[in-house]
Amino acid sequence: MKKKIHRMLVLIAALAIFFTVIFVTLVYYELFRSQILEDLRTTVLLIREDVETGEMQKLQDLGEKLEQNGLRLTYTDSEGNVVFDSEADRLQMENHSDRPEIAQAFAEGEGQVVRRSETLSKSTFYYAVRLESGGVLRVAKDAGSIYSIFGQALPYVVLVLAILLVLCMVVAHLLTVRLISPIERMAENLDAYNDNGNYEELTPFVQMIRKQHQDIVKNAQMRQEFTANVSHELKTPLTAISGYSELIETGMASEEDVVRFAHGIHKSAGRLMTLISDIIRLSELDDDEQEWTSERLDLYALADACVEMLALNAEKHDVTISLIGTKECFLTGNRQMIEELLYNLCDNAIRYNNPGGSVTVQVCARRGEALLVVKDTGIGIPKEHQERIFERFYRVDKSRSKSTGGTGLGLAIVKHIVAKCGASMELESEVGKGTTIRVRFPSVIPFGKVR
Ligand code: ADP
Repeated sequence: MKKKIHRMLVLIAALAIFFTVIFVTLVYYELFRSQILEDLRTTVLLIREDVETGEMQKLQDLGEKLEQNGLRLTYTDSEGNVVFDSEADRLQMENHSDRPEIAQAFAEGEGQVVRRSETLSKSTFYYAVRLESGGVLRVAKDAGSIYSIFGQALPYVVLVLAILLVLCMVVAHLLTVRLISPIERMAENLDAYNDNGNYEELTPFVQMIRKQHQDIVKNAQMRQEFTANVSHELKTPLTAISGYSELIETGMASEEDVVRFAHGIHKSAGRLMTLISDIIRLSELDDDEQEWTSERLDLYALADACVEMLALNAEKHDVTISLIGTKECFLTGNRQMIEELLYNLCDNAIRYNNPGGSVTVQVCARRGEALLVVKDTGIGIPKEHQERIFERFYRVDKSRSKSTGGTGLGLAIVKHIVAKCGASMELESEVGKGTTIRVRFPSVIPFGKVR
């Protein structure tokens, strides 16, 4: 980038210098040319009177005088035949009436032209005036052509160009360093970067990089925590299984104990299975590459099936569970995901309830959305825990969660599913009164209409 900016600056400077030189030369030549023609005009007008009143001898004298000054004098009659020429033998000269400056003088009174000579280096300037006699008097002068002037100026031009180029390179280098240094400083130490004195255009990049950096650190921390939690969670049932089986193996357990220990092993294995299937589920939901099939689902029908499935469980906890709301409430989504979401929310509402309590599941279709409400009259969640219960393995009351078969992953799975469905979720809870969770799903197909 540094090199590129530097090269661009030098290139711009070189082009600017080059075009300036060309332009200045052209302007200068134009001035030079008009000055010479103006001089020739003054001369020819000055001697015009002498020629008009004088004779041949006077012309001769004038011609000689002018020749000493590098000028050539020609005089033609009204037909364009050369009557006098200070340089050539007039008798050998052809009729001049077709020369542009003479033809112009015949027509307009005055005429001028610049003719390139055979060599490129010289041009001849002509100025002619018509006399009262009808003849034409012409003065001519040889001068350098634009090429020769340019050629003469070339060494100076090259010198100035070289000096300017060196100067430009130095300035371009300094400028580039100045331009780039804030970026280099930023690259060296992103944390020390602040907006003062730096480019405000860079601020969004810095903020984005910082945020990405923070996210990466946070992600790494979360992964580490998760691994530690998983190991810890797996350890408890595995230790139990190992302990029971060892007791049976050594023959230390009576027949009665064996049945009890086998039950313990069975329970711990079941717990391990639930844990592992929740962990696998979470990692599937975490995988952005995974593709999920979507279909048109009736939320009411799915909620009904879930309520029915959990009825027995509710009864065990002495809790009543019921479903209200709009029949045929449609949404588009992945069936397994919606079933899991319903199950996890209803299961929690039963497990964290009080004996004699109730769970009400409500489903309704609103304009453009399907609404699911799971409301319980349970123990509630203290304010300070409300934000964190969606984290992996976060539990308010660990022993209650474990004793009721919780893994601490249910709501983390729910949160993932809600995000995947493009839905939103609200939590309202008061300790001792109960908890309400609302999920709003988008793109509901208008109530009752089957596509
Ligand atoms: P768990 O498997 O422990 O139930 P979840 O992720 O489903 O894990 O929930 C996390 C924690 O949130 C639970 O341990 C519990 O403390 C609290 N919680 C979840 N749902 C409810 C509810 N309906 N009422 C009270 N507390 C709840």
